[in-house]
This record gives sequence, C-alpha cells and structure tokens, in this order.
Amino acid sequence: MGVRSDTTFLIVMKHTVFSLSVDDGHPLDMRLAELLHKRGIPASFHVPIHNIEGAPVLLPAEIRELATNFEIGSHTLDHRFLAKLDMHEALRQITEGKLALQDILGKSVQGFCYPGGKYRPIHCGMVRAAGFRYARTTQNLRLDAGRQPLELPTSLQFYPHTRRVLLRNFLSQSAWKERWPLCELVLQDGDWLDRLRHLLAYALREGGIFHLWCHTLDIERLNLWQILDDFLMEVSDWIPPERRVNNLQLVARYCEGLPPPVSLR
Ligand SMILES: [Zn+2]
Repeated sequence: MGVRSDTTFLIVMKHTVFSLSVDDGHPLDMRLAELLHKRGIPASFHVPIHNIEGAPVLLPAEIRELATNFEIGSHTLDHRFLAKLDMHEALRQITEGKLALQDILGKSVQGFCYPGGKYRPIHCGMVRAAGFRYARTTQNLRLDAGRQPLELPTSLQFYPHTRRVLLRNFLSQSAWKERWPLCELVLQDGDWLDRLRHLLAYALREGGIFHLWCHTLDIERLNLWQILDDFLMEVSDWIPPERRVNNLQLVARYCEGLPPPVSLR
C-alpha cells in the first residue's frame, strides 16, 4: 500500500515541508540532479573535496553546474569522521573544506554535514566559528528542525535498512523521547519502502518536516533509481512547490525565529 492509497482520505492537508540532502559528492549526484530538476524538487548536496575512502567525487565544473539549481554544502575537506580526529585536524577539515568549496563556487558556503554523523559538541562550535549557518546530522526519525541549526536532524535515509539496524540506530543516538513515536511507527513495517511511505503519509497527516537523505552510490549499487523516482513523484504530488526546500531554506524558515510547521496546525 503506497502513499496515494493511504492519503486519499485526507481532507485538510497539514503544513508539511519536504527537504532532501545528498551526501558525499559522488559523480552520480549529477544523475540525481537531473531527476530532481524534472520533478521540481530542490536539494542540498553536501560535498567533500576528496574522499579518503577512495570513492570518486564531483569535478569542480560539475559542482558549479550543480550549484545553478541546488544548494552546495560542505562535508569536510576529505570526508573525515570528526570524532576520530585530533582538534587541529578536525578544525582543518572543517575550515579548509569550506574554503576550497568557496573557491570552486566563487560564493559563500553556509551549510555543513558531519561525515558519518560522527561528531562531538566541540565540533558544533568549530563549525559555527568557521562561519557555517547550519550543520546536518544523521539523526533520523524526526519531523522537526531540531533544537538548534548546528544539529539539524533528519527523518529517514533512502536505504533498505533492516528493522534491527533502525532499532540499533535509535538506541545509539540521543533524543529518544522525540524519536520514539516515529520509531514505533516505522518498526511496524517489515518492508523498508512501506516504512518510508507510511512515514510520509504520517507527515502529511500530522504536519512537519519530512527530511530525506541519501547517497547516490547506494542508489546505483542497489538499483534503486526507479524506486527513488517513483517516491519523488509521490512527494511532488502531495507537497506543493513552496513547501519543498533545501536545507538552508529549511533552517532559515524553521530554525531561526519561525516555529516549526508542526506548531502551525
Ligand atoms: Zn558522507
């Protein structure tokens, strides 16, 4: 059962916002950008300059092309997990990643994403000091913009995780009280796609920020392009263009001053 059949009974659409983040700056991001452009869906691409894990990254010309339609955020200089680095190297990864991206784009880069979601509170301070306006985490099962823009949470990753992995992830991250209702909801479904669709249906019914994130290399390896396109079509069917935002717009509208949309019911 998909979103369409779940939500046809809706009479009043709550204030639901959609945001998409794409991590790692893989060259396949260009394929996703084409698909998003076709569906009229904005996104934030969080791009490292190199990837220490060996995966290829976008060329400077490709990053500039992507920036014509999408937000480009930083993902450290070399895709390093900050929590594993000493202070000096963590700061270098944050600041030099930003400067290198700004040199490529010729404009300020305001968004950051913690590689692997591995960071400590001190890194939030470093990110702020480097001049970033927000930083996205990998915390999931949220339909709000979090408590502060340097720890922006998400709803779900576009990835066929098992229930066991979701539960382990739930327990290993904080904000249990805020996340438990959605955890309970997604654990009801055995199939990952049903989980994703039911969570979207819930967000449409109750209002909130549906923040999806993905890696295009996963989409390619698992042959999920058609499934992703179908899901994005459902998003564009249900959420009007003015409520589809990139991460920077999300923070500007819902983190810094304005209340989150769940309170606008
Ligand atoms: Zn990453």
